[in-house]
Amino acid sequence: MKSIRLRLLVCLVFIFLVVGGLPAVHSQEKPGGKRVQAVRFGKLWDGKGKLWSNAIVIIEGDRIKNVTSDASAIPAGAEVLDLSKYTGLPGLIDVHTHLTMYTDETPGEPMLKQITNNSPAVEVFLARKGAMRTLEAGVTTVRDLGADQYMDIAMRDLINHGEMIGPRMFVVGYGLYVTNTPYKPGLNPPAGGIADGVPEVLRVVRQQIAAGVDLIKMYASTGTDDDTTGFQTFSYDEIKAAVDAAHQFGKKIAIHSYGPDGARDAVRAGTDSLEHATDMDDATIQEMVKRGTFYVPTIDHNRYYLDNWQKIGYANGFQEKTKAFIERNLETARKAHKAGVKFAMGSDAIYTMFGENTRELGWFVKAGMTPEQALRTATTNAAELLGKEKELGSAAPGYYADLVAVEGDPLADIDVAIYKVKWVMKGGAVVVDKTKVAVR
Ligand SMILES: [Zn+2]
Repeated sequence: MKSIRLRLLVCLVFIFLVVGGLPAVHSQEKPGGKRVQAVRFGKLWDGKGKLWSNAIVIIEGDRIKNVTSDASAIPAGAEVLDLSKYTGLPGLIDVHTHLTMYTDETPGEPMLKQITNNSPAVEVFLARKGAMRTLEAGVTTVRDLGADQYMDIAMRDLINHGEMIGPRMFVVGYGLYVTNTPYKPGLNPPAGGIADGVPEVLRVVRQQIAAGVDLIKMYASTGTDDDTTGFQTFSYDEIKAAVDAAHQFGKKIAIHSYGPDGARDAVRAGTDSLEHATDMDDATIQEMVKRGTFYVPTIDHNRYYLDNWQKIGYANGFQEKTKAFIERNLETARKAHKAGVKFAMGSDAIYTMFGENTRELGWFVKAGMTPEQALRTATTNAAELLGKEKELGSAAPGYYADLVAVEGDPLADIDVAIYKVKWVMKGGAVVVDKTKVAVR
């Protein structure tokens, strides 16, 4: 035994010396160091409260090393990218997506049907298009809130390994449902997420954590797609059990409630974020302010449903109710913002909505935010909700080199951030570049 171990050790040392001593001939990095880049912006809103003029962001590997306006600080040999025609922003964060529920626009086949017909492997492969469109909107990080068959974990890992191009993903696996929660008309709810009663809630939360999720999602009311009912499903005790179990494992929890009752109990139980929620009473809103609960109203996804209902495959006749829901959703957001509730931007992007992720910011401005406050919901606030406020959501030393170049002044007009994204960098790699005129 001993000699085998010794031989193994000698072997390992040998491999270490040979591999460690090889020159990095195939690497793009400079010998002995990481790739160094310097990106110039005309203006840079850094998420730290500063608007820079003639900003230079110095990047080493996948992280920001320094932000300066002193050109002499650019290290010798750095690759310089000149985006001085544009305004720089930190990479945007969408805290409510369903990337694995992507569909293409194949005519004649309703999206609801495509979602059920595709196998998980096909679905993940197709989803790379939605991931790309998400990046093109300037979104470099998402919190993906619900998938079947752990497709979200697969996709997150493929992206992290560089096998798929897409935003950094934080995922939930199966959301928790009660039996018979209407999920999608004509579909069975995903079996993996069903839980009735406290012991089953604990089991499903633990199953998701064991599967490798980043956080927990719970559906505490009805309401999805063309169904805008908001009846509470899980009881306070079940919600509290989920919240406590998630927190016990160091995970955050996002709770879905279309209506006020599930919202009230989710907030009282200590959820980290509350998704959708209309018609919240003043006491619930005050409780959110007190606890620092994030509100993710997802107003725009119902606009998307109204624009695309035939392609999705909804039955005619839901439109008036959905329009009324949007108004109540916006009104609730207005009240919550006025009261001082913290917001994070979530699109609830699904089907073909990817690429429209940041339209939610327009609704936030309508609800009374300044463009800068709206930008915070998709940067610093969203990063705080993820628990990544020291790595994401700002353009500052130590943060991931996630940067967006927009054409115009997003602090004067939020539409600039929504519709004028020209260039995107994620972790030091340029993933979108529309700054050059296409040459054929
Ligand atoms: Zn959702």
